[in-house]
Amino acid sequence: MMTFEQMKADFKAKFGTSFDFLKDTGIYETPLYKFLERMPKGADLHAHADAILPMDLQVEFLKDHPELVITPDWQIRFIGPGAPYGSRNMKECLEDGLTVDDFRRVWTVGGAPRNGYVWDWFEGIFTKCGAICTTPALVQDYYTRVMLYYHSIGVEHLELRSPFFGTREDAQARAEAYIRALAAVRKVAPLFTLSIVACAGKNDAWDPLFDLLMDNAVWVWKNVKDGDYDLVKAIDIVNDEDRSYSLARYEDRIRKILVENPGLRLTLHAGESLRGENEEISIALRCGINRLGHGFNLFRYPDAEKAVLEKGICMEICPVSNAMLGYCRDFSQHPAKRYMESGIPIVICSDDAAYQAHSVLTGDYLAVVVGWDLSFKQLRNLCRNSIEYSFLIPERKRKLMSWWKKEWTAFYNSSENS
Ligand SMILES: [Zn+2]
Repeated sequence: MMTFEQMKADFKAKFGTSFDFLKDTGIYETPLYKFLERMPKGADLHAHADAILPMDLQVEFLKDHPELVITPDWQIRFIGPGAPYGSRNMKECLEDGLTVDDFRRVWTVGGAPRNGYVWDWFEGIFTKCGAICTTPALVQDYYTRVMLYYHSIGVEHLELRSPFFGTREDAQARAEAYIRALAAVRKVAPLFTLSIVACAGKNDAWDPLFDLLMDNAVWVWKNVKDGDYDLVKAIDIVNDEDRSYSLARYEDRIRKILVENPGLRLTLHAGESLRGENEEISIALRCGINRLGHGFNLFRYPDAEKAVLEKGICMEICPVSNAMLGYCRDFSQHPAKRYMESGIPIVICSDDAAYQAHSVLTGDYLAVVVGWDLSFKQLRNLCRNSIEYSFLIPERKRKLMSWWKKEWTAFYNSSENS
């Protein structure tokens, strides 16, 4: 059996470190990819609802739900009088000759037209696929599949970014569907835990939507529990930084929510920008973030970088998403390598895997292993960080950590030493 260093060297010799290798299906058959797939990763701390399942499983999910149809312009709709003429369910699409690859072209960033603004295409995918979990029953089934998939790749804890739209009753119904999914998953994976980071958007033209989403976040935090534990752990505000309102617009309200609801944590998307001329990371720091979502541009702001290092704020790094959205063309140039080396704690996360990637999280580890030429020990530290910097309460964190240490030892013995 090959050692880790051999697998890494072989991969780099064949595929290099440019993000283009993600489109080469050959990489998914390499010993390094297979190795990283079965590696006990611990947790994924940054994944968005409802954009997680790999495309083959996404297609399978739709096939099992004929109540969801696909319109002629590739939008997923819940069946009803509103579904346009010509809509077909997934079973019919497949019978008509469409394949998983066809859906990968229309429903992932990989299919974005050249020379376009990729964020436009990306947001178009949300419009096409955003209705995949239209009812609590669909939420329950989707997340049962999501968590079982994570379990199959050595992840036992998920921190999911989820907005809670609608009335408080709607919000509660979605949250209770997560709890039912969790109960189903625990029959197979008894250790599995799920935390929700409740989100609002920075681009809401109608400002009261922000307040509604945050009111729902607090409502769910107080009223929906996983046994004795909170389901909602934190809040966040998301969207394309270059075309959204600044965090400054929400700063006072974020502070107020945190003061009124002690125990609720904060992680904000900031520093995910093609330009380097805004205050987003500093504002996030002023708001009192416990973790930083992306922070890609941190190197542009030395004072903020110093503060992140001194406070030991963990950065949620999503390399595949960064590459697909055009922030970084070559993984060896991804700035988080330097953040990690300077002592800032970082974790590797998947962001919107369903819309970006071939699979969930494994490709993100692959990107940094080859791009940053990680040692086996550095790789271990990244996995360990995903548990250490999660929002789990100490008792659950200890449990997860002792499971992971055992798994890692077995993984190590079965690979490196043989
Ligand atoms: Zn994100």
